[in-house]
Order: sequence, then C-alpha cells, then structure tokens
Amino acid sequence: MGARLTRIIVLAACFAGVLALDCAAGKKSLPARPPPPAIITPEIFRFRIGFWANLHQVLIHESLLPKPGFEGPKSLAHHSVAPMANLAAPDTAPWREALAYYGRRFTTRNTFTDEFMDAVRGFTACGNDPALHTSLGLAADWKTLLGNAAPVYRTNFWPAHERADRAYVEAIRSWVAKHGAWFVKRLVALYETPWPSAPVDVEVAPVVPPFGASTIGEPPFQGSHAPLIIVSSEDSGYTGESGLEMIFHEGSHLLVDRVQGLFDASAKRQGRSMPRGLWHFVLFYTAGHVARERLGPSYVPYAERPEHHIFDGAAAGTLRVLVRAWQPYLDGRATLDSAVDAVVAGF
Ligand SMILES: [Zn+2]
Repeated sequence: MGARLTRIIVLAACFAGVLALDCAAGKKSLPARPPPPAIITPEIFRFRIGFWANLHQVLIHESLLPKPGFEGPKSLAHHSVAPMANLAAPDTAPWREALAYYGRRFTTRNTFTDEFMDAVRGFTACGNDPALHTSLGLAADWKTLLGNAAPVYRTNFWPAHERADRAYVEAIRSWVAKHGAWFVKRLVALYETPWPSAPVDVEVAPVVPPFGASTIGEPPFQGSHAPLIIVSSEDSGYTGESGLEMIFHEGSHLLVDRVQGLFDASAKRQGRSMPRGLWHFVLFYTAGHVARERLGPSYVPYAERPEHHIFDGAAAGTLRVLVRAWQPYLDGRATLDSAVDAVVAGF
C-alpha cells in the first residue's frame, strides 16, 4: 500500500515553472537542480452517480417501506423518495410492476446475497448509459421491468436524486480532502492491512437499504474482489462529520478480515463464544473513536448516538468490553494480539 499510496507525481507545469524562475534569476552558472516534486495525495475514493444504480436502490427502498407488520429499512424508514402519487397516470403501471417485482424478491435481509451484490456491480458498470448492458447477467424479467421503469424514473425522480447525490459528493469530497489521508494511515496501522492501491469506487444513491450504505470487496481488491461502496446521499447519518466517519467505516470493511480472523482464533484458543457479529461492533467502535481522535472529544461516534440503536440491549455490554479492552489498543497502550485476547476474555 505504502508505495502506491504515497506515489509522487511530478507536475510538468511545476517543473516548467521552476526552470523559468531559474532563467529569470540569471542562474545559468549554477548546476541544474531537479525541482522539488509536487506531492499529490492520491484519490482515496472515486465517487460515481449512476442512473441504473440509483434506479435499483430506489426500487428496493420503495418496495421495503414499512407496512403493517413490517418495520421496513433501518435507513430512511417512512421516507419515500419516489412517491407514486407524483406520477402521471400512464407512468403508474410500469412503476407499480417494478415495485411489485422488487417487493417479491427483496427483503431487509437478503440484499447482501451474492446474487444481489453482483447485480449492484452490474448496475454500477452500466453507469448513465441509455440502456442496461446486454452482457448484464440479470434474470430476463428483471431486465424487462427495469427497462420499462427507467423512463418513468428518468422523468419523475432522477433529476432530484442526481442533484442530491451531487451535493453529497461535493460535501464529502471536501471532508475527505481534509482528513482522508490521516484516516487511511490510521486505519491501515490499526488493521495491519493495506488500503486498496486503486481509488475505491463509491456509488452514490439517495437511499441504500436497509442501513444507508454497504460495501463489497476484499483483498486482493481486483476483478470480482474489487471494492465497491454504496452510500446514501439523503441519510443524515452519512453527511457532515458523521459522513466522514461512515465513509471510513465502510472503507474499514475492506480492511477488517485479518482482525476478524484474530478474534475467531482467540475465541477458539480461549474456548469462549463471542457475541454474534463482534467484529462489526469492533469496526463500528474503531471507526467512531478514530473519528473522535481526529475531530475532537465533542464528536460522538455514529454507533454511540442513541438514535442509531447500535449498542442497545445486549450490545451495551459489548460496548463496555470494547471501552475497557479495545480502547487501550487504539491508545497505543496494548498490542493488537493482547487487545483481541482481552476483548474475547470479556465475554
Ligand atoms: Zn459496517
């Protein structure tokens, strides 16, 4: 990671500028010195706003909105971003059919299956092209319904969604420009895992059910393992300082495998059983407290804000263990191995 992340780009313009300065100052007798290289922080994230990815996320979200006996997505529940009431009569049938299809196929639990995540990669690859790529491996009826719903979406909802997505990208870019290199360095050190050498693709959509964002990809970060983050432009938990934490929370998903393996090995060695998904609580805690280090003590991590209900119920005990046994690692007072063992011993 190091070599590529800190790659040095010498700008031709800067080089030319230094030569011009030397000439103007009449320093012809001095041996030519190479100009100081301009160091440019490489792009950490590459933000994308694609019509097809947006349409797909919006249809899942709208089909998952709460109904009697069904809670709906965690992110932006009760918030329709494509109200059927706004549609002209001829547009309602194709939109309703697409929603019904999504309603049959998606639940708040199955959006992370390989089939659906592969579809997300495919939609992202289709970008803003006028039609879905013929190579896209989707069920034929799914493709047809999307093709029918696309003009409805393009006319009625896409312009506002694209604007919201652009506003998100503009804002998060400036947060990442200011703090991103620091976060990458800190997280890479804590997880002892290199950050992907190429910029991480981030697809932006108004809604990303059920949580507001998701991430796929793992080392070696190429081909079918390439990283892809999808993030909501309208969920307030993903904007501002909180958005900075959460984009790196998502990025941490790309780094966590090694630490997750250490937890599993430690639990086996100690003959203990850990709370389900402990590694994700560790990831939440780490991203949140790293953000607090950077943003100051008044910053409250996403997971520790009551409205997000992450450390509710039994998970409150998990938070206490992490404060006691994981925080010393973040503070540099414990090694990774000893912190992992101490956390596991806490259960
Ligand atoms: Zn997560």
